[in-house]
Amino acid sequence: MSDKKQVIIIGAGASGLMAGIMAARGEAGVTILEKEKKPGRKLLRTGNGKCNLTNTGDLRCAYHGTDSGFAARALDAFSVQDTIRFFTEIGLYTTSRNGWVYPYAEQAESVLTCLLRECAKLKIKIKNNETVTAVTKDKDHFRVQTSTWTYRADSVILCCGTAASLVKSQLPCNGLMLAESLGHNTVPQRPSLVPLICDGASKKGWGGVRIQGKCTLCVNDVELSSEAGQIQLTEQGVSGIPVFNISGKALILKDGGLPVTLKLDFFPDFDRAMTQAFLEKRRDLLATDDMKSILTGLFPEKLIPALTGGAHSIEELTDNIKSCELQVKGSAGAGSAQVMSGGIRTDEVNAATSESMVCPGLFITGELLDIDGACGGWNLQFAWSTGANAGRHAALPNRRIYDKNI
Ligand SMILES: Cc1cc2nc3c(=O)[nH]c(=O)nc-3n(C[C@H](O)[C@H](O)[C@H](O)COP(=O)(O)OP(=O)(O)OC[C@H]3O[C@@H](n4cnc5c(N)ncnc54)[C@H](O)[C@@H]3O)c2cc1C
Repeated sequence: MSDKKQVIIIGAGASGLMAGIMAARGEAGVTILEKEKKPGRKLLRTGNGKCNLTNTGDLRCAYHGTDSGFAARALDAFSVQDTIRFFTEIGLYTTSRNGWVYPYAEQAESVLTCLLRECAKLKIKIKNNETVTAVTKDKDHFRVQTSTWTYRADSVILCCGTAASLVKSQLPCNGLMLAESLGHNTVPQRPSLVPLICDGASKKGWGGVRIQGKCTLCVNDVELSSEAGQIQLTEQGVSGIPVFNISGKALILKDGGLPVTLKLDFFPDFDRAMTQAFLEKRRDLLATDDMKSILTGLFPEKLIPALTGGAHSIEELTDNIKSCELQVKGSAGAGSAQVMSGGIRTDEVNAATSESMVCPGLFITGELLDIDGACGGWNLQFAWSTGANAGRHAALPNRRIYDKNI
């Protein structure tokens, strides 16, 4: 038996592969157990197959969670620049679009291939089709149970991700259960970065329309947050990046029993008065009082009936365009979400090392933690940072648990 420190990693996704590389670079013997046939299944789907792997912009509003500052502390220990340097070193050339960083090849596959090449170079064992069903700790060692084997380890890194985007055959996703069995507490998980289902949307007939607009989250007419960009109108509600970015908050408020509405502005570059004046000009130019004719040539045809519905004057038409109100009923579900909000409580984990403060020697990374990020590469960045911090510290000889969250 080797006298190297033995580290078992549960999950060969973004944070698990990063954790494995960092632990192996720290001279640990590393085995990664993955329940799927192949590693990195979710990574291949990121950024519509192009993988938006990080973001060089301002991270202050990028993360949500009971303590969103946890993410900033994790990124202090392994930063965006560290991430870009790491990928450059393993052969991935990157490019940035307004701070959103992608592989130059525009293929998520190239990110996964570079990670797996580095794993092979470091002789990391990746065992596929190995679902971990239980983890127990006995004095200084862990026992990791799968259906075929019991592994022993000095440290365990839980990198199981969540049920976001999984289909039925890929469930259950048991990372939270494994953490709870070792003494951790969790914040309820909900879909985030997810399409929203809204009352009355199905009657609007706008399914399939994509349009630049602004989406504002309101409770009792108080505006809580706004996001602009391309909104996708669906048969049952709304989707697209602006909707994704407010969906997590909308669902938490809704589950808290509050009446949550979305106000859609389909002409965000003009304020209300300018929009009305513009529509009046079009009425005069086209010499018509027909609301549909005024909008023809301005908006997608499929959207026009929803915008003209019930409007008998330019004022009412302006209201429909600038402030289309929808009542949020729920989300399209975890299977349609990019991430989940909630997860393992971050006050039980050291932000700089990803080590559990409840169970020394256990490390927890990525989406399992009660942090979720905005669109733009922030979720993967959190996976890289927490994975790197965990791998580095799990490999340390004579590692000691930190007693406070720094
Ligand atoms: C469609 C889609 C697009 C996205 N696009 C982006 C993007 O462009 N940019 C961005 O920043 N984020 C994006 N995300 C989010 C991002 O993919 C995740 O936040 C990130 O992958 C989380 O990393 P993780 O390591 O925590 O979990 P994952 O990458 O999900 O890895 C978890 C791994 O653990 C395995 N596993 C689970 N349970 C067990 C078990 N019991 N035993 C063994 N193995 C187990 C799983 O099979 C999986 O391989 C996207 C997500 C989706 C679904």
